[in-house]
Amino acid sequence: MALRTRPRLSLSVKQVLSDRCECFCRPLKIRKALSFSLFQRLFTPVSKALYPCSKGSLPLYQWLFLSVTRFLNEEPKMTYCVLPAIVPSFCPHRKGFAELTCHSEMKRKVNFPFAFLSFFRNFVHQMKTAIIGGGAAGFFLAVNLKEMMPEMEVTIFERAQRVLSKVEVSGGGRCNCTNSFEDVTDLRMVYPRGHRLMKRLFNVFDYQSAFAWFEHHGVPLITQDDQCVFPAAQDSHAIINCFLTLARRHQVRIYLGRKIQSLDDLQDYDFIAVTTGGSPKGEGLRWLADLGHEIEQPVPSLFTFQVADKSLTALMGTVVGQTTVMIPGTKLHASGPLLITHWGMSGPAILKLSSYAARLLAEKEYKLPVSVRWTTARDSDIENILHETMRVHSSKQLPTFNPFGLPQRLWAFLMTRSLADRWEVRWHELGKKDVNRIVNVLCNDTYQISGRGTFKDEFVTCGGISLKSVNPSTLESKLVPRLFFAGEVLDVDGVTGGFNFQAAWTTAYTVASAIVSKLS
Ligand SMILES: Cc1cc2nc3c(=O)[nH]c(=O)nc-3n(C[C@H](O)[C@H](O)[C@H](O)COP(=O)(O)OP(=O)(O)OC[C@H]3O[C@@H](n4cnc5c(N)ncnc54)[C@H](O)[C@@H]3O)c2cc1C
Repeated sequence: MALRTRPRLSLSVKQVLSDRCECFCRPLKIRKALSFSLFQRLFTPVSKALYPCSKGSLPLYQWLFLSVTRFLNEEPKMTYCVLPAIVPSFCPHRKGFAELTCHSEMKRKVNFPFAFLSFFRNFVHQMKTAIIGGGAAGFFLAVNLKEMMPEMEVTIFERAQRVLSKVEVSGGGRCNCTNSFEDVTDLRMVYPRGHRLMKRLFNVFDYQSAFAWFEHHGVPLITQDDQCVFPAAQDSHAIINCFLTLARRHQVRIYLGRKIQSLDDLQDYDFIAVTTGGSPKGEGLRWLADLGHEIEQPVPSLFTFQVADKSLTALMGTVVGQTTVMIPGTKLHASGPLLITHWGMSGPAILKLSSYAARLLAEKEYKLPVSVRWTTARDSDIENILHETMRVHSSKQLPTFNPFGLPQRLWAFLMTRSLADRWEVRWHELGKKDVNRIVNVLCNDTYQISGRGTFKDEFVTCGGISLKSVNPSTLESKLVPRLFFAGEVLDVDGVTGGFNFQAAWTTAYTVASAIVSKLS
C-alpha cells in the first residue's frame, strides 16, 4: 500500500504568490509579508553580490537553497513564496519556470535539470514526516531529522497526554541513557534479540555517537564504574528538557491524545515513522500486522521471579554481590548481583536471565526451576576452602563461620539446606558426604519459579516488528514504502544497563538519515 499518491500540481509564479493556492489538495496560506517584487528588491541584489564568492564550490541553485533555508530558518513556511520568487531572477528558463510542474513524471516535459526540479519540488510541496509515538525514539528521530533537514515538517502523534513518560521514570528517575560498552565483548550478551542489526547500525550511530550527541546538545553525562551512563545531573529531566527544548526550537509539532492505528489517518504525510515502543500484549501491533508485517510474538522481558519457597523469601533484603543464575537443562545463564525480595528473586542477574529466557519462560507460563550458584569460586576451589576451614577453624560452629563472604543469614540458611537439622555442627564434625552436600548447594541451589514478579515490573518487550520485514540499513518497511520503524516496536531489546535507550537512539538516527537520503 502506498502512503500517498501525489496529485499532479502545476504552479505558476502567479499562483504561488497569490494569497491562497491549492497545494496537494491542501489550502496553503502564503505569507503576505514578502511579495514577489518586494522580495526581489530585498534579496536579489544581496544574492547577486554574494553568489560569486561561493560560485566555485556550489551550483547556483544549491547556493540559493542554502541561503534561503538559512534566511528562513525561523519561518520555514515562507519558503513556499520566497523560493519561487527569487529563482526566476536567476534562472535562464524563466518561461519554463512559470509552467513548472512538480510531479516527477512530468520532469521530462520541462526543460529543467532534474536536480533543480527535485530541489524545487521540496519547496513547493513542503515534505512532511509523521512520527507515531512521543517516546525516546520518537523525539530523537524528530530532533535529528529537523537538524538534518530544517525544511522538513515533522509532527509527533502521542496517544497519551504526556510525552517521554518512560524516559522520566527510567533508571530510577536518573535515566540510564547508554553504556560505555567497555565490558561488552559480544553484542549477543546485551542484545538477546537484534544483536546483528545493532552491530550493523553502530557503524552509523553507536554509543560514542550518542554520548557525544547528548554532550553536544547540553546534557553532560557521566559513566559509572559499572559502565552505565547517566546524565551528570542524575536526573532524567536533563534528557527530557533537552528534547523538549530542541523540539520547540525546531518547530516540531506535537499532538497529544492522538492514538494512530491506521495509515489512513496520515494520508497527508510523505514519510511515517512508527516509534510506538513495546507492546507486551501485542494489541499495538495488530494494525501493522494487517499491513503485512511479520510480527515476532511479543512477550515481557526484564522482570523479577516469584519464588514460592517461604524460607528463601524470609531472607528479603539480602544482596549477594556475584552470583550466576541458570535455567537447568538449558544453556541459559546470567551473572551478576542477586537480591532476595519478599516475593522471590530480583537484581541484575535475574533481570538478565529473564531477558535471555524471555520466550522459554513465557512458553512455560513462568513455571520453571532456576538454579543459583552463590559463589564465583570453582567447584574444586570450594572443596579446598571447605577442607581448609575444617582444619583451621575446626571447633567453630558451621553457621557462625562463613569462609565465602556470603551474608551471614544466607550462609546459615544454605547450611540448613545442605545439612537439614545437623546445620549447627562444628566444622571438624563434617563428613565427606556433608562436604559434597555443601558444595552442591553453593554451586547448584535450585528453586521453583512460580510466576513473574508481583509488580509485573517488566521494563521492555521481547518481540515486535520482525527484522525480516524491514530493510536492515534504513529500517524502512519492505512492504510499505516510506514507512519506517525505530525503537522498541522493533524486535530488538537489550538487557539492563542503558542498552535499550541506546537501541532507541541508534534506530531513530538511522531512520532520520534514511529519510534525508531518500530526498537527496
Ligand atoms: C520503568 C522503566 C525503566 C526503564 N529504565 C531504562 C533505563 O534506565 N535504561 C534503558 O536503556 N532503558 C530503560 N527502560 C526501557 C526504555 O524505557 C525503553 O526501551 C525505551 O523507552 C523505548 O523507547 P521507544 O521510544 O521505542 O518507546 P517508548 O519510550 O515506550 O515510547 C513509545 C510512545 O509511543 C506512544 N504510543 C504507543 N502507541 C501509540 C499509538 N498507537 N499512537 C500514538 N502514540 C502511541 C506511547 O504512549 C509512548 O509514549 C525502562 C523502561 C521502563 C518501563
